[in-house]
Amino acid sequence: MNIINGKEIAAELRMQLKEKVEKLKEKNIHIGLAVIIVGDNPASRIYVNNKKKACAEVGIESFEYALPAETTQEELINLIEKLNNDKKVNGILVQLPVPKHIDDKAVINAISVKKDVDGFSHNNMGKLATGDYGLLPCTPAGIIYMLKHEGIQIAGKHCVVIGRSNIVGKPVSLLMLDENATVTICHSKTPNLKYHTLQADIIISAVGHAKLVTADMVKKGAVIVDVGMNKDENGKLCGDVDFENVAPKCSYITPVPGGVGPMTIAMLLNNTVKTCEQEN
Ligand code: NAP
Repeated sequence: MNIINGKEIAAELRMQLKEKVEKLKEKNIHIGLAVIIVGDNPASRIYVNNKKKACAEVGIESFEYALPAETTQEELINLIEKLNNDKKVNGILVQLPVPKHIDDKAVINAISVKKDVDGFSHNNMGKLATGDYGLLPCTPAGIIYMLKHEGIQIAGKHCVVIGRSNIVGKPVSLLMLDENATVTICHSKTPNLKYHTLQADIIISAVGHAKLVTADMVKKGAVIVDVGMNKDENGKLCGDVDFENVAPKCSYITPVPGGVGPMTIAMLLNNTVKTCEQEN
């Protein structure tokens, strides 16, 4: 059994990005990422800080816009439109969730398609669905990157994705399909989840439910990608998979923490560098 070290793979990718950023700087091209946070959700604050730290590490300048919770949708969209036209800004990300009085879809779709580094806009999602890739959503792109990095064969394999959200389940299913996997998508209304997972060569779980995937649900030698971020009974961060009992049955497994999470941020940096390279 191999534990896929997402922390290490992400660090390696950040080093490559740092070199690219330095080469661009030699040509006097500077990369900037605008990060918008609305309100004072503590988890969002941690995510934003982590993203800013990762930007600094590779030499991307980050511009933080911390807006009060009572910011209106119009004010937020006005800011995005200003940033869309700001040459110093290559990527724009709005940390989700936004407060309830703001329509997150309207906000995300206000971001210029070329600066939508989270890849969540209808435009970039539509491109993904038609195989004409624009900017890819970070967690799904990070998962494919990891699998390829480990030399795991995807083509011809049966991949069972658990979860169908717009940010993970659906886009990762489309990417796996494009990699020529046979894809089954399960969700909360799927009867007998175990029936499906037992047939999987690759399981990608993106649910948010600790110990959802247990050893009896996994075929021997399967590859397990655990996207979930949950707290266990002791308040410790854990994934969707019962790691201790599932790991001995697998050929490869991603841990939580240190698996998919670090890849998500690395892919955000990757998208930001990509937008800058395309612009120049
Ligand atoms: P989400 O929007 O809440 O979607 C969860 C999905 O799981 C839904 O499609 C839901 O089905 C399905 N589901 C719920 N209970 C189920 C069950 N018992 N059996 C099968 N499917 C079930 O969540 P998300 O945003 O995709 O995130 C999923 C998890 O990944 C969370 O823990 C989140 O924190 C984590 N995450 C991690 C990263 C990272 O970088 N590591 C990034 C993003 C998300 P329905 O559609 O039928 O409701």
